[in-house]
Amino acid sequence: MATPVLDVRGVVKKFGDNYVLRRLDLTVHKDEVVVLLGASGSGKSTLLRTANLLERVDDGQIFLSGQDITDPSVKVDFVRARIGVVFQHFNLFPHLRVLDNVTLAARKVHGVPRGEAEQRGMELLERIGLADKARDYPDRLSGGQQQRVAIVRAVATRPELLLLDEITSALDPVLVGEVLDLVGELKDVGSTVLMATHEIGFARRVADRVVFLQHGVIVEQGPPEQVIDNPTQEATRDFLARVL
Ligand code: ADP
Ligand code: MG
Repeated sequence: MATPVLDVRGVVKKFGDNYVLRRLDLTVHKDEVVVLLGASGSGKSTLLRTANLLERVDDGQIFLSGQDITDPSVKVDFVRARIGVVFQHFNLFPHLRVLDNVTLAARKVHGVPRGEAEQRGMELLERIGLADKARDYPDRLSGGQQQRVAIVRAVATRPELLLLDEITSALDPVLVGEVLDLVGELKDVGSTVLMATHEIGFARRVADRVVFLQHGVIVEQGPPEQVIDNPTQEATRDFLARVL
């Protein structure tokens, strides 16, 4: 049986009287890559933010490896330390060198000694071909290089779950491929990923499951060859016709 890592149960999130997530249920299993598709405003970012406790749910529960992280007594920092997150913009600390960005959480949050953290950090930078940038500040890197550093920073502490929110939407098109290829490689080494993206080709290649959201509800979900190539719902077909 597949082990649930993230289990979203009946989650409601509203801003004022705008219901953004409407009793949403979603389970992401260990080593599964789940891609969220949906028009702008459908609730993808809000779902990712509630999973990382950047937003509080109004109803329902979210479990991380079996623990109810929406319980008010849960320590937010402990939960965040177990989840890696990459957003569209501004992921790296501009005043820290690349290697310090990658090792910061391991050292400060997980108490890994500097030498050990830097050894792993350099291994990760070597894996993405950026070891020679370790002593540079982020603004010396291209947008694609910065996002790849942000991804290895997010996995440096071996999080249980990786949340990626449109990590390539701010990039020059020629840089998108190198970032998505890295996500594909993460999958090969076993990572549990929930990501929002408009890159349909990537979703088709890499996703184990595609989830189509509309107005805070899952309209359709399944393997990419089903949801992307043979959608059963009109909303999914309309969306795909616009982005493909
Ligand atoms: P997506 O990521 O799919 O584009 P979002 O989750 O960002 O969608 O937004 C869903 C809805 O929630 C939108 O109507 C948006 O305006 C609203 N929303 C998101 N964040 C906030 C916020 N902090 N305050 C008020 N409304 C918000
Ligand atoms: Mg969004």
